[in-house]
Amino acid sequence: MKNKVFVSTSIPYVNARPHIGHALEFVQTDTYARYRRLAGDDVFFTTGTDDNALKNVLKAEEANEAVQPFVRRHAAYFKETCDRLNISYDCFIETSNSDVHTQGAQKLWDVANKKGDIYKKEYEGLYCVGCEEFKTEKDINEQGECPEHPGKKLEQIKESNYFFKLSNYQKTLTELIESDTLHIIPETRKNEILSFIKSGLEDFSISRSVERAHGWGVPVPGDDSQVMYVWFDALSNYINVLDYAHEGKAFQDFWLDANERIHCIGKGINRFHTVYWPAMLLSGGIPLPHTVFVHGYFTVDGQKMSKSIGNVINPIDLIEKYGIDAVRYYFLRHQHPFEDGDFTMEKFHTAYTANLVNGLGNLVSRVMKLAETHLDAPVQRPDAIDFPDEFTQALDAFEFSTAMDYVWSRIGRADAHMTEEEPFKVVKTNPEEGKRIIAELVLELYHIARMLHPSMPTTSKLIKETILANKKPEIMFPRLDL
Ligand SMILES: [Zn+2]
Repeated sequence: MKNKVFVSTSIPYVNARPHIGHALEFVQTDTYARYRRLAGDDVFFTTGTDDNALKNVLKAEEANEAVQPFVRRHAAYFKETCDRLNISYDCFIETSNSDVHTQGAQKLWDVANKKGDIYKKEYEGLYCVGCEEFKTEKDINEQGECPEHPGKKLEQIKESNYFFKLSNYQKTLTELIESDTLHIIPETRKNEILSFIKSGLEDFSISRSVERAHGWGVPVPGDDSQVMYVWFDALSNYINVLDYAHEGKAFQDFWLDANERIHCIGKGINRFHTVYWPAMLLSGGIPLPHTVFVHGYFTVDGQKMSKSIGNVINPIDLIEKYGIDAVRYYFLRHQHPFEDGDFTMEKFHTAYTANLVNGLGNLVSRVMKLAETHLDAPVQRPDAIDFPDEFTQALDAFEFSTAMDYVWSRIGRADAHMTEEEPFKVVKTNPEEGKRIIAELVLELYHIARMLHPSMPTTSKLIKETILANKKPEIMFPRLDL
Protein backbone atom coordinates (compact mmCIF):
# COMPACT_ATOMS: atom_id res chain seq x y z
CA MET A 1 0.00 0.00 0.00
CA LYS A 2 1.12 3.52 -0.75
CA ASN A 3 2.23 5.62 2.17
CA LYS A 4 0.85 9.12 2.39
CA VAL A 5 3.69 11.50 3.12
CA PHE A 6 3.60 15.20 3.94
CA VAL A 7 6.88 17.03 3.30
CA SER A 8 7.59 20.72 3.78
CA THR A 9 10.39 23.24 3.64
CA SER A 10 10.20 26.10 6.08
CA ILE A 11 8.74 29.31 4.72
CA PRO A 12 11.38 32.05 4.66
CA TYR A 13 10.63 35.72 5.20
CA VAL A 14 11.08 37.68 2.02
CA ASN A 15 12.94 40.89 2.72
CA ALA A 16 15.68 40.15 0.18
CA ARG A 17 16.41 37.83 -2.71
CA PRO A 18 17.00 34.16 -1.92
CA HIS A 19 20.59 33.04 -1.35
CA ILE A 20 22.27 29.64 -1.53
CA GLY A 21 21.15 28.80 2.01
CA HIS A 22 17.52 28.91 0.89
CA ALA A 23 18.42 26.95 -2.22
CA LEU A 24 20.08 24.27 -0.09
CA GLU A 25 16.86 23.63 1.81
CA PHE A 26 14.77 23.60 -1.37
CA VAL A 27 17.11 21.07 -2.98
CA GLN A 28 17.40 18.80 0.06
CA THR A 29 13.65 18.73 0.56
CA ASP A 30 12.97 18.22 -3.13
CA THR A 31 15.41 15.33 -3.30
CA TYR A 32 13.70 13.70 -0.36
CA ALA A 33 10.23 14.24 -1.86
CA ARG A 34 11.32 12.83 -5.23
CA TYR A 35 12.91 9.86 -3.52
CA ARG A 36 9.69 9.05 -1.66
CA ARG A 37 7.65 9.36 -4.85
CA LEU A 38 10.11 7.09 -6.62
CA ALA A 39 9.65 4.58 -3.82
CA GLY A 40 5.93 4.58 -4.65
CA ASP A 41 4.65 6.85 -1.90
CA ASP A 42 1.95 9.45 -2.29
CA VAL A 43 3.67 12.73 -1.44
CA PHE A 44 2.37 16.22 -0.75
CA PHE A 45 5.30 18.62 -0.89
CA THR A 46 4.76 22.22 0.16
CA THR A 47 6.93 25.30 0.24
CA GLY A 48 6.32 29.04 0.11
CA THR A 49 6.96 32.36 1.77
CA ASP A 50 6.36 33.93 5.17
CA ASP A 51 4.90 37.19 3.93
CA ASN A 52 3.63 38.47 7.26
CA ALA A 53 6.98 38.66 9.02
CA LEU A 54 7.70 42.08 10.48
CA LYS A 55 11.14 41.95 8.87
CA ASN A 56 9.44 42.27 5.49
CA VAL A 57 7.53 45.34 6.64
CA LEU A 58 10.63 47.05 8.02
CA LYS A 59 12.56 46.39 4.82
CA ALA A 60 9.74 47.66 2.62
CA GLU A 61 9.58 50.87 4.65
CA GLU A 62 13.33 51.27 4.41
CA ALA A 63 12.95 50.99 0.63
CA ASN A 64 10.07 53.48 0.69
CA GLU A 65 7.79 50.94 -0.86
CA ALA A 66 4.27 49.86 0.10
CA VAL A 67 4.40 46.56 1.96
CA GLN A 68 2.16 44.50 -0.25
CA PRO A 69 3.87 45.05 -3.61
CA PHE A 70 7.25 44.67 -1.89
CA VAL A 71 6.27 41.34 -0.39
CA ARG A 72 4.66 40.02 -3.55
CA ARG A 73 7.69 40.95 -5.62
CA HIS A 74 10.08 39.23 -3.22
CA ALA A 75 7.86 36.18 -2.88
CA ALA A 76 8.06 35.94 -6.67
CA TYR A 77 11.89 35.82 -6.47
CA PHE A 78 11.60 32.81 -4.17
CA LYS A 79 9.15 31.07 -6.44
CA GLU A 80 11.36 31.74 -9.43
CA THR A 81 14.35 30.28 -7.59
CA CYS A 82 12.36 27.15 -6.76
CA ASP A 83 11.34 26.78 -10.37
CA ARG A 84 14.84 27.37 -11.65
CA LEU A 85 16.09 24.67 -9.26
CA ASN A 86 13.49 22.24 -10.59
CA ILE A 87 11.75 21.94 -7.22
CA SER A 88 8.77 19.60 -7.55
CA TYR A 89 6.47 21.27 -5.02
CA ASP A 90 2.76 20.53 -5.01
CA CYS A 91 1.99 23.81 -3.31
CA PHE A 92 3.70 27.18 -3.02
CA ILE A 93 1.99 29.28 -0.38
CA GLU A 94 2.36 33.04 -0.06
CA THR A 95 0.88 33.65 3.35
CA SER A 96 -0.34 37.20 2.67
CA ASN A 97 -2.16 36.04 -0.41
CA SER A 98 -4.10 33.05 0.85
CA ASP A 99 -7.57 33.03 2.37
CA VAL A 100 -7.21 29.48 3.63
CA HIS A 101 -4.06 30.55 5.43
CA THR A 102 -5.69 33.49 7.20
CA GLN A 103 -8.75 31.44 8.05
CA GLY A 104 -6.68 28.49 9.24
CA ALA A 105 -4.44 30.61 11.47
CA GLN A 106 -7.53 32.20 13.02
CA LYS A 107 -9.19 28.83 13.49
CA LEU A 108 -6.14 27.43 15.27
CA TRP A 109 -6.12 30.53 17.46
CA ASP A 110 -9.79 30.03 18.34
CA VAL A 111 -9.26 26.38 19.18
CA ALA A 112 -6.23 27.11 21.39
CA ASN A 113 -8.13 29.94 23.01
CA LYS A 114 -11.09 27.68 23.84
CA LYS A 115 -8.65 25.17 25.27
CA GLY A 116 -7.51 27.92 27.66
CA ASP A 117 -3.98 28.18 26.25
CA ILE A 118 -4.17 31.85 25.23
CA TYR A 119 -4.29 34.74 27.66
CA LYS A 120 -3.71 38.48 27.59
CA LYS A 121 -0.95 39.97 29.66
CA GLU A 122 0.62 43.33 30.12
CA TYR A 123 4.26 43.26 29.19
CA GLU A 124 6.82 45.89 29.95
CA GLY A 125 10.34 45.96 28.62
CA LEU A 126 13.01 47.58 26.52
CA TYR A 127 11.97 47.78 22.92
CA CYS A 128 14.04 48.29 19.78
CA VAL A 129 11.96 49.94 17.08
CA GLY A 130 14.59 48.94 14.51
CA CYS A 131 13.99 45.24 15.21
CA GLU A 132 10.42 45.77 16.45
CA GLU A 133 11.31 43.43 19.27
CA PHE A 134 11.50 43.49 23.03
CA LYS A 135 15.07 43.08 24.20
CA THR A 136 16.29 41.50 27.41
CA GLU A 137 19.48 42.32 29.30
CA LYS A 138 21.41 39.63 27.46
CA ASP A 139 20.41 41.01 24.05
CA ILE A 140 21.84 44.49 24.56
CA ASN A 141 25.42 45.76 24.38
CA GLU A 142 27.48 47.70 26.92
CA GLN A 143 25.99 51.01 25.80
CA GLY A 144 22.56 49.59 26.57
CA GLU A 145 21.70 49.55 22.87
CA CYS A 146 20.59 46.91 20.43
CA PRO A 147 23.74 45.57 18.71
CA GLU A 148 21.86 45.57 15.39
CA HIS A 149 20.89 49.20 15.82
CA PRO A 150 23.69 51.03 17.61
CA GLY A 151 22.95 54.67 18.35
CA LYS A 152 19.23 54.06 18.60
CA LYS A 153 17.87 54.46 22.12
CA LEU A 154 15.83 51.55 23.35
CA GLU A 155 12.37 52.57 24.48
CA GLN A 156 10.72 51.48 27.69
CA ILE A 157 7.39 50.18 26.47
CA LYS A 158 4.37 48.75 28.19
CA GLU A 159 1.73 46.98 26.17
CA SER A 160 -0.82 44.22 26.29
CA ASN A 161 -0.28 41.15 24.16
CA TYR A 162 -1.66 37.67 23.94
CA PHE A 163 0.50 34.86 25.22
CA PHE A 164 0.48 31.16 24.55
CA LYS A 165 0.78 28.82 27.54
CA LEU A 166 3.82 26.93 26.37
CA SER A 167 4.56 26.04 29.99
CA ASN A 168 1.56 23.68 29.90
CA TYR A 169 3.38 21.40 27.47
CA GLN A 170 6.81 20.97 29.00
CA LYS A 171 6.29 17.41 30.20
CA THR A 172 4.44 16.15 27.13
CA LEU A 173 6.99 17.61 24.73
CA THR A 174 9.90 16.10 26.66
CA GLU A 175 8.32 12.65 26.47
CA LEU A 176 7.46 12.94 22.79
CA ILE A 177 10.96 14.04 21.84
CA GLU A 178 12.83 11.64 24.11
CA SER A 179 10.88 8.72 22.69
CA ASP A 180 11.41 9.92 19.09
CA THR A 181 7.65 10.02 18.63
CA LEU A 182 8.62 13.46 17.43
CA HIS A 183 11.90 12.50 15.83
CA ILE A 184 14.46 15.28 15.51
CA ILE A 185 17.29 14.55 13.07
CA PRO A 186 20.21 14.75 13.75
CA GLU A 187 20.71 13.64 17.36
CA THR A 188 22.70 16.77 18.26
CA ARG A 189 19.68 18.95 17.42
CA LYS A 190 17.45 16.68 19.47
CA ASN A 191 19.72 17.02 22.50
CA GLU A 192 19.89 20.77 22.05
CA ILE A 193 16.10 20.98 22.17
CA LEU A 194 15.78 18.64 25.13
CA SER A 195 18.12 20.81 27.16
CA PHE A 196 16.24 23.92 26.05
CA ILE A 197 13.00 22.38 27.30
CA LYS A 198 14.67 21.25 30.51
CA SER A 199 15.76 24.83 31.23
CA GLY A 200 12.06 25.66 31.56
CA LEU A 201 9.53 26.67 28.94
CA GLU A 202 8.16 30.16 29.20
CA ASP A 203 4.91 31.30 27.68
CA PHE A 204 5.54 33.22 24.49
CA SER A 205 3.94 36.28 23.00
CA ILE A 206 1.78 35.56 19.97
CA SER A 207 0.41 38.99 19.12
CA ARG A 208 1.41 42.59 18.56
CA SER A 209 -0.60 45.76 18.56
CA VAL A 210 -1.70 46.71 15.05
CA GLU A 211 0.41 49.81 15.49
CA ARG A 212 3.62 47.88 16.30
CA ALA A 213 2.94 45.55 13.40
CA HIS A 214 2.56 48.57 11.12
CA GLY A 215 -0.91 47.35 10.22
CA TRP A 216 0.40 44.19 8.53
CA GLY A 217 -0.50 40.62 9.48
CA VAL A 218 -3.33 38.26 10.36
CA PRO A 219 -5.91 39.89 12.65
CA VAL A 220 -6.46 38.27 16.04
CA PRO A 221 -10.02 36.90 16.10
CA GLY A 222 -12.26 39.13 18.18
CA ASP A 223 -9.66 41.82 18.87
CA ASP A 224 -9.18 44.51 16.23
CA SER A 225 -6.32 46.07 18.11
CA GLN A 226 -3.98 43.08 17.68
CA VAL A 227 -2.46 41.02 14.87
CA MET A 228 -0.79 37.64 15.25
CA TYR A 229 2.90 37.69 15.87
CA VAL A 230 4.97 35.90 13.30
CA TRP A 231 5.29 32.38 14.71
CA PHE A 232 1.67 31.65 15.39
CA ASP A 233 0.76 32.77 11.91
CA ALA A 234 3.74 31.35 9.98
CA LEU A 235 3.88 27.91 11.58
CA SER A 236 0.23 27.26 10.94
CA ASN A 237 0.93 27.44 7.18
CA TYR A 238 1.80 23.74 7.18
CA ILE A 239 -1.76 22.70 7.90
CA ASN A 240 -3.37 25.68 6.22
CA VAL A 241 -2.06 24.66 2.82
CA LEU A 242 -4.06 21.45 3.32
CA ASP A 243 -7.17 23.49 4.12
CA TYR A 244 -7.26 22.98 7.86
CA ALA A 245 -9.70 25.91 7.92
CA HIS A 246 -12.45 23.75 6.43
CA GLU A 247 -10.89 20.42 7.39
CA GLY A 248 -10.81 19.60 3.69
CA LYS A 249 -9.86 16.35 2.00
CA ALA A 250 -6.18 17.26 1.71
CA PHE A 251 -6.03 17.91 5.45
CA GLN A 252 -7.62 14.53 6.07
CA ASP A 253 -5.35 12.69 3.63
CA PHE A 254 -2.01 14.37 4.15
CA TRP A 255 -2.17 15.41 7.78
CA LEU A 256 -4.67 13.43 9.82
CA ASP A 257 -4.25 10.18 7.89
CA ALA A 258 -0.68 10.71 6.72
CA ASN A 259 1.76 7.91 7.50
CA GLU A 260 4.48 10.50 7.85
CA ARG A 261 4.52 14.24 8.40
CA ILE A 262 7.97 15.69 7.80
CA HIS A 263 9.40 19.20 8.12
CA CYS A 264 12.79 20.18 6.69
CA ILE A 265 14.20 23.28 8.35
CA GLY A 266 17.40 25.18 9.14
CA LYS A 267 19.05 25.00 12.55
CA GLY A 268 18.11 28.59 13.43
CA ILE A 269 14.42 27.79 13.68
CA ASN A 270 14.61 24.38 15.32
CA ARG A 271 13.02 25.60 18.56
CA PHE A 272 10.01 27.00 16.76
CA HIS A 273 9.37 23.75 14.91
CA THR A 274 10.08 21.24 17.65
CA VAL A 275 8.72 23.13 20.67
CA TYR A 276 6.35 25.98 19.77
CA TRP A 277 4.67 24.34 16.79
CA PRO A 278 4.10 20.93 18.42
CA ALA A 279 2.67 22.72 21.47
CA MET A 280 0.28 24.67 19.25
CA LEU A 281 -0.79 21.43 17.58
CA LEU A 282 -1.28 19.69 20.92
CA SER A 283 -3.42 22.60 21.98
CA GLY A 284 -5.48 22.27 18.81
CA GLY A 285 -5.85 18.50 19.23
CA ILE A 286 -4.02 17.99 15.94
CA PRO A 287 -1.42 15.27 15.31
CA LEU A 288 2.23 16.33 15.44
CA PRO A 289 4.93 15.99 12.80
CA HIS A 290 6.72 12.64 12.98
CA THR A 291 10.07 13.95 11.82
CA VAL A 292 11.88 17.26 11.77
CA PHE A 293 15.09 17.23 9.75
CA VAL A 294 17.42 20.10 10.68
CA HIS A 295 20.12 21.16 8.24
CA GLY A 296 23.17 23.36 8.84
CA TYR A 297 24.09 26.62 7.16
CA PHE A 298 26.45 27.75 4.46
CA THR A 299 29.20 30.16 5.23
CA VAL A 300 30.89 31.77 2.23
CA ASP A 301 34.68 32.11 2.13
CA GLY A 302 34.74 31.40 5.84
CA GLN A 303 32.22 34.07 6.82
CA LYS A 304 28.54 34.30 7.52
CA MET A 305 26.70 35.42 4.39
CA SER A 306 25.75 39.06 4.68
CA LYS A 307 24.93 41.97 2.47
CA SER A 308 27.42 44.22 4.23
CA ILE A 309 30.29 41.80 3.62
CA GLY A 310 29.04 41.38 0.06
CA ASN A 311 29.46 37.60 0.00
CA VAL A 312 25.85 36.65 -0.64
CA ILE A 313 25.61 34.17 -3.50
CA ASN A 314 22.51 34.07 -5.63
CA PRO A 315 21.80 30.48 -6.67
CA ILE A 316 20.50 31.66 -10.04
CA ASP A 317 23.95 32.99 -10.93
CA LEU A 318 25.38 29.52 -10.26
CA ILE A 319 22.65 27.87 -12.31
CA GLU A 320 23.26 30.18 -15.24
CA LYS A 321 26.91 29.28 -15.41
CA TYR A 322 26.98 25.64 -14.35
CA GLY A 323 23.45 24.34 -14.87
CA ILE A 324 20.72 23.26 -12.46
CA ASP A 325 21.95 19.77 -11.73
CA ALA A 326 25.49 20.92 -11.04
CA VAL A 327 24.12 23.15 -8.29
CA ARG A 328 21.89 20.40 -6.92
CA TYR A 329 24.82 17.99 -7.06
CA TYR A 330 27.13 20.27 -5.13
CA PHE A 331 24.61 21.11 -2.39
CA LEU A 332 23.75 17.48 -1.83
CA ARG A 333 27.17 15.90 -1.99
CA HIS A 334 29.64 18.52 -0.86
CA GLN A 335 27.63 20.24 1.86
CA HIS A 336 27.21 18.11 4.99
CA PRO A 337 23.47 17.57 5.47
CA PHE A 338 23.51 18.43 9.18
CA GLU A 339 26.52 20.63 9.76
CA ASP A 340 27.62 24.04 8.57
CA GLY A 341 29.82 24.03 5.52
CA ASP A 342 31.93 26.63 3.84
CA PHE A 343 31.12 27.48 0.25
CA THR A 344 33.77 28.87 -2.07
CA MET A 345 33.62 29.24 -5.83
CA GLU A 346 36.93 27.38 -6.06
CA LYS A 347 35.55 24.34 -4.23
CA PHE A 348 32.40 24.41 -6.29
CA HIS A 349 34.32 24.67 -9.54
CA THR A 350 36.79 21.94 -8.60
CA ALA A 351 34.00 19.53 -7.65
CA TYR A 352 32.14 20.34 -10.85
CA THR A 353 35.16 19.65 -13.03
CA ALA A 354 36.34 16.53 -11.22
CA ASN A 355 33.01 14.78 -10.68
CA LEU A 356 30.65 16.02 -13.36
CA VAL A 357 32.82 16.99 -16.33
CA ASN A 358 35.41 14.25 -15.80
CA GLY A 359 33.47 11.80 -13.66
CA LEU A 360 29.88 11.28 -14.70
CA GLY A 361 29.90 13.27 -17.95
CA ASN A 362 33.00 11.57 -19.28
CA LEU A 363 31.80 8.07 -18.37
CA VAL A 364 28.43 8.52 -20.07
CA SER A 365 30.07 9.91 -23.15
CA ARG A 366 32.68 7.12 -23.44
CA VAL A 367 30.26 4.28 -22.80
CA MET A 368 27.60 5.63 -25.13
CA LYS A 369 30.15 6.28 -27.89
CA LEU A 370 31.07 2.59 -27.76
CA ALA A 371 27.42 1.56 -27.59
CA GLU A 372 26.46 3.72 -30.54
CA THR A 373 29.34 2.36 -32.61
CA HIS A 374 29.17 -1.33 -31.71
CA LEU A 375 25.71 -2.28 -30.46
CA ASP A 376 23.19 -3.18 -33.15
CA ALA A 377 20.23 -2.01 -31.07
CA PRO A 378 19.61 -0.15 -27.83
CA VAL A 379 19.85 -2.26 -24.69
CA GLN A 380 16.54 -3.32 -23.21
CA ARG A 381 15.33 -1.05 -20.47
CA PRO A 382 16.18 -3.06 -17.36
CA ASP A 383 13.39 -4.03 -14.96
CA ALA A 384 13.18 -1.78 -11.95
CA ILE A 385 15.18 -3.41 -9.21
CA ASP A 386 15.25 -2.40 -5.58
CA PHE A 387 17.81 0.23 -4.78
CA PRO A 388 20.75 -0.98 -2.72
CA ASP A 389 20.36 -0.64 1.05
CA GLU A 390 23.38 1.62 1.29
CA PHE A 391 21.60 4.12 -0.93
CA THR A 392 18.10 3.94 0.58
CA GLN A 393 19.26 3.91 4.19
CA ALA A 394 21.21 7.10 3.57
CA LEU A 395 18.25 8.88 1.98
CA ASP A 396 15.84 7.62 4.64
CA ALA A 397 18.12 9.30 7.18
CA PHE A 398 18.47 12.54 5.14
CA GLU A 399 22.17 11.75 4.68
CA PHE A 400 22.28 13.10 1.18
CA SER A 401 26.05 13.26 0.88
CA THR A 402 26.34 9.57 1.81
CA ALA A 403 23.78 8.63 -0.83
CA MET A 404 25.64 10.70 -3.42
CA ASP A 405 28.98 9.19 -2.40
CA TYR A 406 27.45 5.78 -3.00
CA VAL A 407 26.32 6.74 -6.52
CA TRP A 408 29.76 8.13 -7.28
CA SER A 409 31.37 4.94 -6.01
CA ARG A 410 29.33 3.12 -8.66
CA ILE A 411 30.48 5.64 -11.27
CA GLY A 412 34.07 5.06 -10.19
CA ARG A 413 33.64 1.30 -10.40
CA ALA A 414 32.18 1.54 -13.90
CA ASP A 415 35.13 3.70 -14.90
CA ALA A 416 37.56 1.15 -13.50
CA HIS A 417 35.69 -1.66 -15.23
CA MET A 418 36.13 0.14 -18.54
CA THR A 419 39.85 0.60 -17.98
CA GLU A 420 40.42 -3.01 -16.90
CA GLU A 421 38.26 -4.78 -19.46
CA GLU A 422 39.18 -2.52 -22.37
CA PRO A 423 35.99 -3.21 -24.37
CA PHE A 424 37.24 -0.83 -27.10
CA LYS A 425 40.08 -3.32 -27.78
CA VAL A 426 38.20 -6.54 -27.09
CA VAL A 427 35.44 -5.63 -29.54
CA LYS A 428 37.99 -5.68 -32.39
CA THR A 429 39.33 -9.18 -31.67
CA ASN A 430 36.25 -10.79 -30.11
CA PRO A 431 33.16 -8.79 -31.14
CA GLU A 432 30.67 -10.88 -29.12
CA GLU A 433 32.64 -10.53 -25.89
CA GLY A 434 33.28 -6.84 -26.59
CA LYS A 435 29.57 -6.19 -27.10
CA ARG A 436 28.74 -8.07 -23.93
CA ILE A 437 31.04 -5.84 -21.88
CA ILE A 438 29.66 -2.70 -23.53
CA ALA A 439 26.05 -3.73 -22.89
CA GLU A 440 26.94 -4.48 -19.28
CA LEU A 441 28.38 -0.98 -18.89
CA VAL A 442 25.31 0.58 -20.50
CA LEU A 443 23.05 -1.27 -18.07
CA GLU A 444 25.14 -0.09 -15.16
CA LEU A 445 24.73 3.47 -16.46
CA TYR A 446 20.99 2.94 -16.47
CA HIS A 447 21.03 1.91 -12.82
CA ILE A 448 23.15 4.94 -11.99
CA ALA A 449 20.67 7.16 -13.83
CA ARG A 450 17.83 5.73 -11.75
CA MET A 451 19.63 6.52 -8.55
CA LEU A 452 20.24 10.06 -9.80
CA HIS A 453 16.54 10.71 -10.32
CA PRO A 454 15.86 12.30 -6.90
CA SER A 455 19.01 14.40 -6.79
CA MET A 456 19.65 15.29 -10.46
CA PRO A 457 16.37 14.71 -12.27
CA THR A 458 17.30 16.33 -15.60
CA THR A 459 20.58 14.45 -15.85
CA SER A 460 18.88 11.20 -14.89
CA LYS A 461 16.30 11.61 -17.64
CA LEU A 462 18.90 12.53 -20.22
CA ILE A 463 21.05 9.48 -19.48
CA LYS A 464 18.06 7.17 -19.71
CA GLU A 465 16.94 8.71 -23.01
CA THR A 466 20.41 8.47 -24.44
CA ILE A 467 20.59 4.79 -23.51
CA LEU A 468 17.18 3.94 -24.93
CA ALA A 469 18.08 5.73 -28.18
CA ASN A 470 21.56 4.16 -28.18
CA LYS A 471 23.10 7.53 -29.01
CA LYS A 472 26.07 9.33 -27.54
CA PRO A 473 24.67 12.48 -25.88
CA GLU A 474 25.68 16.08 -26.43
CA ILE A 475 28.17 17.25 -23.84
CA MET A 476 26.32 17.09 -20.52
CA PHE A 477 28.71 19.11 -18.40
CA PRO A 478 30.86 21.45 -20.48
CA ARG A 479 34.38 22.21 -19.31
CA LEU A 480 34.35 25.76 -17.91
CA ASP A 481 36.81 28.31 -16.63
CA LEU A 482 36.55 29.40 -13.03
ZN1 LIG B 1 17.40 46.41 16.97
